[in-house]
Amino acid sequence: MLKLFSSCLRKSQRLGTWDARQTNRIGIAMNYLPTFMDVRGRKALVVGGGSAGLSKMRLLNRAGAEVTIVAPFADSEVANTARSGKVKWLPRRFDSGDVVGCVVVFAATGNKTIDTCVVEAASKTGIPINVVDNPHLSTFITPSIVDRSPVVIGISTGGSAPVLARRLRGSIEAMLPDRLGELASFASKFRSAVSQNIPVVARRRFWENFFDGFIASKILAGHGPEAQVAMEQSIRDGNSDVCGSVSIVGAGPGRRDLLTLRAFHLLQDADVVVYDRLVGPEIVDLARRDARLIDVGKMPGCYVRDQKEINALLAHHASQGRRVVRLKGGDPLIFGRGGEELDYLCARGISVEVVPGITAALGSAAVSGIPLTHRKGVHAVTLVTGHGAVDEAGVDWADVARGTGTLVIYMGTAKAKAIAARLIDGGRRANTSVAIVERATLPGERIVEGTLCELGKLIKKHRIVAPAIIIVGDVVAARNVLKGHSFEKLERII
Ligand code: SAH
Repeated sequence: MLKLFSSCLRKSQRLGTWDARQTNRIGIAMNYLPTFMDVRGRKALVVGGGSAGLSKMRLLNRAGAEVTIVAPFADSEVANTARSGKVKWLPRRFDSGDVVGCVVVFAATGNKTIDTCVVEAASKTGIPINVVDNPHLSTFITPSIVDRSPVVIGISTGGSAPVLARRLRGSIEAMLPDRLGELASFASKFRSAVSQNIPVVARRRFWENFFDGFIASKILAGHGPEAQVAMEQSIRDGNSDVCGSVSIVGAGPGRRDLLTLRAFHLLQDADVVVYDRLVGPEIVDLARRDARLIDVGKMPGCYVRDQKEINALLAHHASQGRRVVRLKGGDPLIFGRGGEELDYLCARGISVEVVPGITAALGSAAVSGIPLTHRKGVHAVTLVTGHGAVDEAGVDWADVARGTGTLVIYMGTAKAKAIAARLIDGGRRANTSVAIVERATLPGERIVEGTLCELGKLIKKHRIVAPAIIIVGDVVAARNVLKGHSFEKLERII
């Protein structure tokens, strides 16, 4: 106990005195009081009209303050905003009387003598003062903010590491859905209706279900009117967890950070994640800890569950009120049977959303530095499947071969030799450049280059395994060998 107390009694570095502040779990005390100040309609002063003053003016303006800027010269945006009547600009030097009646003052002249005068004037009457980039002269500092008003998140390192604060801000920005503010406003609009209709004991649960559930996901997806109807219904029923939904989500070509933010948010909210073989564990791991993960690992020719079963599985979980994420490699609507799942679920009246992903063609082109189109004569790209027997009715290879556009062949390695023959028969030059991209964006990624007539041999010789894509066309010869990042490890085999 004594030890604990003495750890709290520390010498304050800044003030040079003993203080008795409580510390956090690792024994560090707060240097600043985190607060949000209501400045709406109240006077605020900014001294200085350069870029620092401008950013403080913008901040105060957003928060609804009545802003006055004192500066002999000012940024054109300050002048324009003043002309429009949104702020007041006094084009002269600072006078100590300027602080009178203000609830907050910013000194942003960059001139220590003037800033010190502003500090003295503000301090005399106890007005909170911030000197830009000078926490020692300031009585408060401004945090980095993530603004999803009315949700605002302030981040501060107490002035110790501003770059870290900016990094954190970036991570939080990416993590939070764009429409978070709309969600908060929506909830606020219904607060009194919920209070009137839902008994106190059930109210917290109601709101928890609301934020975790279908209605919130509709708002975040931008379907406000649908959410409105569902909310009115759920208030009548006393239950906000009205119905489940399915999001058919593209997971991209493999690398976790090639996932879209929407995919990431949906994964974090999902009750059930139904995923394919092509989706790696590092992506599936992004799901909530208590989400149910169902591997429907579709191997070519060896279906763990057939499509009918998968459709039924999705519908079953959604109809139990769960939020289901159907996670598919690449883009769900490109050789992914996402369209069939969409049809099945829509026909049963289940709420469905499709979230695009980076398809393997684009992932492979990016890692291999192959432009899929070229200003000098390559004006089209065809994505085609090589799955199934080449001689069976299916892909019309003669048609695909026509023209000079780039061909990107999915699932084509097993039949590569026959496909190449069809393409040459159809008119493609035997020496057309080809690239085979194996495991694009994933560890062990490889790129093999050659010509169309040797495609089959290349695949055999280099023991190419799935997933791999074949790119056919003159653009392959225009490929740039990318340097840096993970691309350094690319093998240029031929
Ligand atoms: N919907 C997916 C495609 C599914 S079909 C998409 O849009 O990408 C599966 C085929 O995609 C594989 O056989 C392979 O040809 C290709 N593929 C998927 N991921 C790949 C990767 N990381 N590298 C190369 N090819 C890939």
